[in-house]
Amino acid sequence: MAKTYTLPPLPYKYSDLQPHISEKIMTLHHDKHHQAYVTGANTALDKLEKARKGEIQIDVRAVLRDYSFNVDGHILHSIFWPNMAPPGKGGGSPGGKIGDAIARDFGGFDKFKAQFSDAAKTVEGSGWALLLFDAETSQLVLTQVEKQNFMHLAQMKILLGLDVWEHAYYLDYMNDRAKYVEAWWNVVNWSDVDARLSNA
Ligand code: MN
Repeated sequence: MAKTYTLPPLPYKYSDLQPHISEKIMTLHHDKHHQAYVTGANTALDKLEKARKGEIQIDVRAVLRDYSFNVDGHILHSIFWPNMAPPGKGGGSPGGKIGDAIARDFGGFDKFKAQFSDAAKTVEGSGWALLLFDAETSQLVLTQVEKQNFMHLAQMKILLGLDVWEHAYYLDYMNDRAKYVEAWWNVVNWSDVDARLSNA
């Protein structure tokens, strides 16, 4: 049996964020919405496992999309809950390393707050505003996420990738992507993949 995702408990009571966020919202959001993402991610993993064993036939694209949508919902909500604390404990302006980093990269907390708020308010439809640390440039950056797919890329270490944009194969394989994918297995550097796993 593969490992499964589980719903983490809230680090405070459902009513603790009142009057800013009601007990009703917190209960539904955590017990129904987040739980649905956990269940959806586990269901998708289970389908993939059964398909590998030949027990069922699946539409891989649809199931991987379900997996991405649900695991990303799980990851984001698992961050969102402890990102909040009851009034008095939460709120105010940040100190410590994050306070210094915000001052350095955004020119002050008020400027950060304004830009983050703008990011949140202008997400088209359902989504998120996120503060990220970019290890390549060693700085804080903002991003907007529409819906929630693919944010696991920000959290999970990538071990192996295959570019299937047309620019990666068209000159050699024309429209035959499957032939390119088949040929690609001959050039995979498994020792690099192994090193990435060791560093994960
Ligand atoms: Mn949500």
